Amino acid sequence: MNAPASLSTPHGIPIGKVWLVGAGPGDPDLLTLRAARLVMAARVIVHDGLVSPSILSMAPAGAQLISVAKRRSRHSMPQDDINALLVREALSGRDVVRLKGGDPFIFGRGGEEADACLAAGVPVEVVPGISAAIGAGAAALLPLTHRDAASVVSFVSGQCKGLTDQNWAGLAGVGRTLVIYMGLATAETIADKLIADGLAPDTPLAVVENATRPQMRVLRGALAELGDLVAREGVQSPAIIIIGAVTALQPTALRHLALEAQQ
Ligand code: SAH
Repeated sequence: MNAPASLSTPHGIPIGKVWLVGAGPGDPDLLTLRAARLVMAARVIVHDGLVSPSILSMAPAGAQLISVAKRRSRHSMPQDDINALLVREALSGRDVVRLKGGDPFIFGRGGEEADACLAAGVPVEVVPGISAAIGAGAAALLPLTHRDAASVVSFVSGQCKGLTDQNWAGLAGVGRTLVIYMGLATAETIADKLIADGLAPDTPLAVVENATRPQMRVLRGALAELGDLVAREGVQSPAIIIIGAVTALQPTALRHLALEAQQ
């Protein structure tokens, strides 16, 4: 992990490395040790809007923090410009910590950034992070798989191209958990599509807003009322939607975990 980059530009400047680092779902304690070390030693951090201020505050006083906030409603920097920024910084000889919410390779466009860097001759290393689905499951005491309830779990983007053309039928139902990222704006469409594809309207679900953060909310409901639930409760981004029988397990899981904690 610590080997200095030995490549250099034609002008003899050593090329920096781009670290694609997962910052996890919000709670700084959920950073990996490697991510924490890199943030604490960074000179340049390029971060998106999902990275908690408390994580950014771990950077050294002199570090340059560059926000490329990419929350849906305020898409401030196009992806090509982000790629170019990473390459430019590295070619100027600086190591760059590219800090992303969750895991860089789960709906984080980390693959595109890695490709752009590698195509420009910039070395890349990826530090995995706890993805929102995993963080939300843990924080809401909601196992994504469970021997009695689900042996398949799918992560789907609610913003994917041709949303309603996707084959949703196999993703949810008996024995399956469906986790939808970026699904607030399309929640009602997704619920309608799942029901049209045969999923029971009373399939239980949970919406986890701000998972692992102090202001976390866990809302429960049934598939048919997903759109209403999101609107009525004024659910804000970031939030994740978990659909399937595991979301109805909580009382049992809670009792079980409470008993274990006492032992
Ligand atoms: N790379 C990230 C996902 C980026 S897409 C990861 O692995 O988690 C952004 C979406 O992730 C949000 O719209 C939301 O659906 C989800 N998300 C990220 N952080 C979250 C959090 N703390 N609580 C709930 N959902 C979150």
